[in-house]
Amino acid sequence: MKKIQMVDLKGQYNDIKDVINPTIQEVIETTAFVNGPQVHKFQSNLEQYLGVKHVIPCANGTDALQIAMMGLGLKPGDEVITVDFTFAATVEVIALLQLTPVLVDVNEDDFNINIEALKKAITPKTKAIVPVHLFGQCANMEAVMEIAEANNLFVIEDNAQAIGANYTYKNGEKVKAGTIGNVGATSFFPSKNLGCYGDGGAIFTNDDALAHTIRGIVNHGMYERYHHDVVGVNSRLDSIQAAVLNAKLPHLDTYNKSRQAAATKYTKAFEGISSITTPKVNNCNEICDTCDCHVFHQYTLRVKGVDRDALVKHLQAHDIPCGVYYPIPLHLQKAYLDSRYNEADFAVTNQLVKDVISLPMHTELEDDQIEHITSTIIKFIHG
Ligand SMILES: *Cc1c(COP(=O)(O)O)cnc(C)c1O
Repeated sequence: MKKIQMVDLKGQYNDIKDVINPTIQEVIETTAFVNGPQVHKFQSNLEQYLGVKHVIPCANGTDALQIAMMGLGLKPGDEVITVDFTFAATVEVIALLQLTPVLVDVNEDDFNINIEALKKAITPKTKAIVPVHLFGQCANMEAVMEIAEANNLFVIEDNAQAIGANYTYKNGEKVKAGTIGNVGATSFFPSKNLGCYGDGGAIFTNDDALAHTIRGIVNHGMYERYHHDVVGVNSRLDSIQAAVLNAKLPHLDTYNKSRQAAATKYTKAFEGISSITTPKVNNCNEICDTCDCHVFHQYTLRVKGVDRDALVKHLQAHDIPCGVYYPIPLHLQKAYLDSRYNEADFAVTNQLVKDVISLPMHTELEDDQIEHITSTIIKFIHG
C-alpha cells in the first residue's frame, strides 16, 4: 500500500506533467509574468466553465472575499452575517474592512448556514450575508437569496471549497456554486479542488457594473492608467499560476468525480456503524458518484460516544493522517469575541468542534488505502 497522505498533489502532477511543464516553460520564455495571455485565457475559460459573465482573477481566496466586499461598497459599521464554523479568512476580511461580523450557527447535517439563525441575526444595520459552501456543497442558496431579497442584502458566496459543485434549485435547474449571489469568491490554494502551484484566487459575478468596479479595485483603484478613482489593492493572479490552472481546469470534473468516488467508498464502509455519522449530501437521498452536488473538498465524519481526540491520535499512530476542521468556533477566537453573542446561539458549532474528523481526501486515493483507513477506524470504535 502506498503511504497515505491527507492531500496528494504529486500523482495528479505526474499525470499532467507533459502539459504542465511546457506551459510553465513558455511563460518563462515569453517573460509575460504578470497579466499575460495565460491570465486572460484562464479568465475566459473559467467564465465558460462556470457559466458566469465575469471572472476577475486575483492573488488568493482571502483577497477575493475582501475585494468582493470592497466592490459592493460596504461601509464601516455595516453588519455582515456569516457562519461560526468556517476557516477564519471569511470573518477576517469582514473585520479588516471595519465591517461588523455577525456569526451564526450552522446545520448539524450539512455544516452550512442555518436559515433560522440567519433570519434571527438580521438587524437594520445588516448589509450582507456570506454563506460558505463548506467542505464542497452549497448552502441552502434558495432560502439565502429569498431572505436577502426580502431584506435588501448583498450575498457574497465563499466558494473556496466548492468549485465545480452544482446547486440544484427545487425546480431541478442547476447552476454552478459561486454564481448565485451578487458575487462569489474562490481560492486556488494548492490543496483546494482546483489548486494551482502557489497562491491564486478569483471573484465571479453576473453584474456588469460590479465587475467593472472590481477590475479597478484589484489594480490599485485604476480605471484609466495612473488615475486612481477609488482606494484599491494590488491583487493579481500571476501568469505561471494561470498556466497551471488552464492545464488543470479541463480535468476539474474528473478530479471532483474521483473525490466523490472515494467519498462513496468511505460512506459504504461505515454503513451501520451507529457512532459514526457520514456526510449528508443535499439534493440526493444518498451519496452517489453520478451527481455533482457535493465535490468533497473534505470528507468529514461526526463521531458520537467516541473520544474524537483519541481517535485522531490512534490514526496518526497508524500512519493515517486526518484533520479536525475546525477545532474552535470563530465566536470563541480572541480576535472575534463579541459581548453580544450568546453561547446558546452556537449550540451546533460548539458540538461539531468536538465531534468532527476529516479523513484523507484527494484525487489519488486507492481502494486499499480507503480499506485500511476505514477498518482502522471501525476497529478503534469497536475496541
Ligand atoms: C481556503 C479558504 C479561504 C481562503 O483562501 P486562500 O486562497 O487561502 O486565501 C477562504 N474561505 C474558505 C472557506 C477557505 O477554505
